Amino acid sequence: MTNYKYDPKSLCADEFINHQEILDTLEYAQAHKDDVALCRAILDKARGNLHPKNDHGAIITHREAAVLLACEDAAIVNEMKELARQIKLAYYGNRIVLFAPLYLSNYCVNGCLYCPYHAKNKTIPRRKLTQDEIRAEVIALQDMGHKRLAIEAGEHPKENPIDYILESMRTIYSIKHKNGAIRRVNVNIAATTVDEYRMLKEAEIGTYILFQETYHKENYLKLHPTGPKHDYNWHTEAHDRAMEGGIDDVGLGVLFGLDNYAYELVGLLMHAEHLEAVHGVGPHTISVPRVKPADDIDPTDFDNSLTDELFEKIIALIRVAVPYTGMIISTRENERVRAAALQYGISQISGGSRTSVGGYTEEERPRDTEQFNVSDQRTLDEVIAWLMENDHIPSFCTACYRAGRTGDRFMAFCKSGQILNYCHPNALMTLAEYLMDYASPVTRDRGFRLIKRELEKIPNARTHDLCKANIKAIMSGNDRDFRF
Ligand code: SAM
Repeated sequence: MTNYKYDPKSLCADEFINHQEILDTLEYAQAHKDDVALCRAILDKARGNLHPKNDHGAIITHREAAVLLACEDAAIVNEMKELARQIKLAYYGNRIVLFAPLYLSNYCVNGCLYCPYHAKNKTIPRRKLTQDEIRAEVIALQDMGHKRLAIEAGEHPKENPIDYILESMRTIYSIKHKNGAIRRVNVNIAATTVDEYRMLKEAEIGTYILFQETYHKENYLKLHPTGPKHDYNWHTEAHDRAMEGGIDDVGLGVLFGLDNYAYELVGLLMHAEHLEAVHGVGPHTISVPRVKPADDIDPTDFDNSLTDELFEKIIALIRVAVPYTGMIISTRENERVRAAALQYGISQISGGSRTSVGGYTEEERPRDTEQFNVSDQRTLDEVIAWLMENDHIPSFCTACYRAGRTGDRFMAFCKSGQILNYCHPNALMTLAEYLMDYASPVTRDRGFRLIKRELEKIPNARTHDLCKANIKAIMSGNDRDFRF
């Protein structure tokens, strides 16, 4: 293999995710993992992030994060989790943003060994939604109360070309059913060209999400033996192309379980550092999926599964290392794991998800075209009630991106400490919409009690009064979509 040099500013994947730098980092972490004083100093540095107004000086590096990951000292691990909890509260408060995935098509030309959509899987029925079917799915999602979707599709130039994705986005945004509306469409489709990213931007994409799956190039090539996704560099450099195409918000993720978790975590943080170094803004979100059973897929085929405890530690560490970035956990995880993850840094979750193509319009949860088995099978109303029971504020807010607070403008906004005057009232107003239009009576009562309490946390008196008045309007009529 050619000897590449580590360079976070390079646009070549082998240089910004540099294999040798990862190996050196892991070696450094092993050598220092028992150095409690060093671990504490790293935590102290990260503690500088507790005040959003502080600047980037306090961001810990991938090397420092690797030491914390390797450290097994119980006191340090607990301090790190506590710090993660505090950082989460400082940046995101107790709000949790809700979304749902919408599977458009499971046609795929790739050969990903962990994914049931892989081209050689002959048992999974192939399906692609027509625009009328998308309409029906979106109405079902709106009737649940969703305002934010992540659209998902396999990679198939003939069945799912970019025009199909763009047309689907237009359809989704155009549907106004009762008081419902989808106000933000995030897109999780395969790596593509700058021109196509530009088209997605024009179609008003929210975040472009692309999981790396694994940062370990050699294993990546084996796990993706055929199809365009086999090209590691094309895939890994996709977020740069997306940003070049004008998309401000990009999402990263690792499919935990495919490779060694420490290697993955270092790669992930290096990727975040790279985006910051090149574009002046890090990833908008980081997702933490783990490989799950699915048609033709047995996760035990991959030797790197994580215990729940280790998974929680990783989530806490990401929160500490990348404080401004939203973190997403899906219904791949069960209620217990999601509850812990919410404490340590997750700011967005899916709810009421169906991971099959056309799943939302089926009475029964369909299994045949599922992308992965859903562990958390509760309804959205149950998830909302549960969040509130655990002192979280469910939020359906999509204001930032609609107000142009994306990319570096979002990060600046985050650092200015204005979240309590914007995100907090927006969360309460969108929750009030949900409670009026979709909630069960028990959830509604609980929700309005929570709103009354949480209103008092808005620091700016004018914002407080306006928010209160807007909520009154939501409760007494059909006025919707207020935002700061
Ligand atoms: N085809 C696009 C791509 O290549 O990125 C879209 C991705 S797919 C619809 C969404 C994600 O699901 C994948 O990136 C992968 O990480 C995840 N996934 C695939 N198989 C999975 C499994 N068995 N368990 C959990 N997640 C899985």
